[in-house]
Amino acid sequence: MMKKYIKKCPVCGTYTLKDVCPKCGNTTKTAHPPPFSLEDKYMGLKIKGSS
Ligand SMILES: [Zn+2]
Repeated sequence: MMKKYIKKCPVCGTYTLKDVCPKCGNTTKTAHPPPFSLEDKYMGLKIKGSS
């Protein structure tokens, strides 16, 4: 199954599935952050919190 990646315009904040914002015409970026950076952030907090 193909997953559709929702994208977000960094300029006006519009969510779209297209590469270009339908409102302002700017290039959109993927709204989902890379999972590894989330993991890294979470682990860093965990280590800080437990010590
Ligand atoms: Zn826009």
